[in-house]
Amino acid sequence: MRFVLLGPPGAGKGSLAAIIKEQLSVVHLSTGDMLREEIKKNSPLGLEIKSLIEKGSLVSDDIVTKLIKSKVVDDLSISAKSYMLDGYPRTVTQAQDLDNMLKLVSKPLDFVVNMEAHLDLILERLAGRRVCRKCGEIYHLTNKRPKVTGICDACAGELYQRSDDNEETIKKRMDVYMTSTQPIIDYYAKQGKVRILNGNLDTADLFKQFLTVTR
Ligand code: ADP
Repeated sequence: MRFVLLGPPGAGKGSLAAIIKEQLSVVHLSTGDMLREEIKKNSPLGLEIKSLIEKGSLVSDDIVTKLIKSKVVDDLSISAKSYMLDGYPRTVTQAQDLDNMLKLVSKPLDFVVNMEAHLDLILERLAGRRVCRKCGEIYHLTNKRPKVTGICDACAGELYQRSDDNEETIKKRMDVYMTSTQPIIDYYAKQGKVRILNGNLDTADLFKQFLTVTR
């Protein structure tokens, strides 16, 4: 099973991905996570990526496509398994590049899940989101509080607020989503691969719906 999770920031892609990974043993490939790892290295590339992410702009197609190719084509331990892409592709060029690279290894995508959610819910989710610095587990100040404030239940790591989860950057990310990412849905609809999920549901119900629409 190879698929893409699509949807605006805050639609719940990361939370759904975590439950799919746990329940179905599917490898989770998030370009956002990979880019944040690159930033941690403090390399010149990391610094360039940091400034783009903090503005809510997209990183170049070239950089993210190389990151993804290194996993789904070059890394046999991933390409031979089930995996889901979260946050990639984000432009039509990336979607075409992905199709081309998967064609080369004769392992095309099976489907694309499009998560739709109301804007007010998205804004509330992003503003209250906190993430574990160590294991990446996602929390929320009111909807999913850790047992101890600021500490991850799973690994006792420190919880932090992503620097792009502020009002101004969230607005920019939504604009970028509407102009650059939304057109991908038509691109995949033409291939008959889109499955729609109601991102307004909580994660457990979302997972049930995922199992139904992808059966
Ligand atoms: P969200 O889905 O909540 O916006 P992500 O963690 O997927 O968060 O992405 C965070 C940021 O990383 C994006 O706003 C963008 O700057 C960058 N990014 C992630 N994936 C891509 C991609 N495929 N193409 C370009 N930029 C990307």
